[in-house]
Amino acid sequence: MLHTPHTSTGRPPAGRGRALGPRRYRAAALLASAVSLGLVAASAPAVPLGIGDRLFPHLGNPGYDVASYDLAFTYSGNNSEPLRAVTTIDARTTARLERINLDFAHGEVGSVEVDGRPAAFAGAGEDLVITPGKPLPKGERTRITVRHTSDPVSPKGREGGWVRTADGLVMANQADAAHLVFPCNDHPFDKARFTIRVTAPDGHIAVANGLAAGVERANGSATWTYRTRHPMATELAQVSIGRSAVLRRTGPHGLPLRDVVPAKHRAAAEPWAARTAGHISWMESKVGRYPFESYGLLMADAPLGFALETQTLSLFGAGLFTEPAYEQWYVESIMVHELAHQWFGDSVSPRTWSDLWLNEGHATWYEALYAEEKAGRSLRTRMRDAYAASDTWRAAGGPPAAPKVPAPGQKTGIFRQNVYEGGALVLYALRQEIGHPAFERLERAWVTRHRDGTASTADFVRLASEIAGRDLDGFLRAWLYGEKTPPMPGHPDWKPGTADPAATAVPAAE
Ligand SMILES: [Zn+2]
Repeated sequence: MLHTPHTSTGRPPAGRGRALGPRRYRAAALLASAVSLGLVAASAPAVPLGIGDRLFPHLGNPGYDVASYDLAFTYSGNNSEPLRAVTTIDARTTARLERINLDFAHGEVGSVEVDGRPAAFAGAGEDLVITPGKPLPKGERTRITVRHTSDPVSPKGREGGWVRTADGLVMANQADAAHLVFPCNDHPFDKARFTIRVTAPDGHIAVANGLAAGVERANGSATWTYRTRHPMATELAQVSIGRSAVLRRTGPHGLPLRDVVPAKHRAAAEPWAARTAGHISWMESKVGRYPFESYGLLMADAPLGFALETQTLSLFGAGLFTEPAYEQWYVESIMVHELAHQWFGDSVSPRTWSDLWLNEGHATWYEALYAEEKAGRSLRTRMRDAYAASDTWRAAGGPPAAPKVPAPGQKTGIFRQNVYEGGALVLYALRQEIGHPAFERLERAWVTRHRDGTASTADFVRLASEIAGRDLDGFLRAWLYGEKTPPMPGHPDWKPGTADPAATAVPAAE
């Protein structure tokens, strides 16, 4: 995700943040203990469970591993009305389960079947707790079918999930909102394949992640089917329904490119869409092959205030491309930010949400590197400014790899400057420390080794040490978990705490 301004200043947003003591690997340890607690709780009354993510304790559920989701939505043509939906989950149990918890919080459940038989269900917190006729043994395949509605009107004080646009709907599920749309194991730790089917009245076009697998027309409506070829985190699911135009091109080595834009903005969108192939080639020159089966821009007719790296189809507010005040380099650097996430965040997903800096630090890094190489915006100057603000960001949001739990209702949530520019600053420090060639090898090795998987901060530290041929644990620990920003290798003149606080205020994000 990237916050984008509503105003026409064309300036990238700066940040704010607050503090947390360093506790390395604490998240992973908590995760393990919460899983075993969860298994005990499965035989107790219906209660919401989680996998113990430090930042979102109730996200995800223990006891099973989802292999695939089949989501079927029926849209009425009115984006204030709940959609009818059927969610089918194929999973493998990793423990004996008397109850199955799914995350689901914003729709009515009509019925639940487990392996074809009706099952009892109840809501508990933000979980849908299912009780099958008999307990599920460990290590078995199971199919859970939930008939439900999916409400596109956001619950009060809660954002994310469906976003209503001028002509329909799009999704913005990061970090914890996929379960406002469909029942799921809502944590990037459990990635799965997706088949997404959308039925909408004639005049609308529906597009989702992955590749099209057919369209059927009947009785004044059409049903589109899309499939992902790679596993995907629930937070990266995307469904666009609108009066859209779909632009098609071919990218590097035959990669299908598909952009979804409001039909009325088609002409304005074309020149931007035409730049994507070049962005992909540039990213491939840095880190290797694009990891998925397709890519494209989804331009939503809505004042989003952010952009989001939904897998194979990144979401942007159309205003980013239609507002003439934005400078070209700025718009392109945001496009490259979301594209870079396809490697960093999507193909390689965070093991816990405390690993968010691995997503945002890398996306910001390539965003800044592109701006330097293509528009002469000095990376060194940008990092020097980030260094000056870094202590302030750490005090506000916590160190990059131990972000502070966001206050309820805080709009920016965990998406603060400590993980964006602050995360990129860690990568800059690492490149200063190990040199450009080792750093570039590390980046390529990271996205290769963990492709289609999940990985943690500890995995990154381990790989960096392996590639550099020396133990970087102490160096990176200080940069990732320190309350204060360590000295910058090669720049003894850089001083923290010299930023003008007014210059680092974050614009309102939606
Ligand atoms: Zn981002």
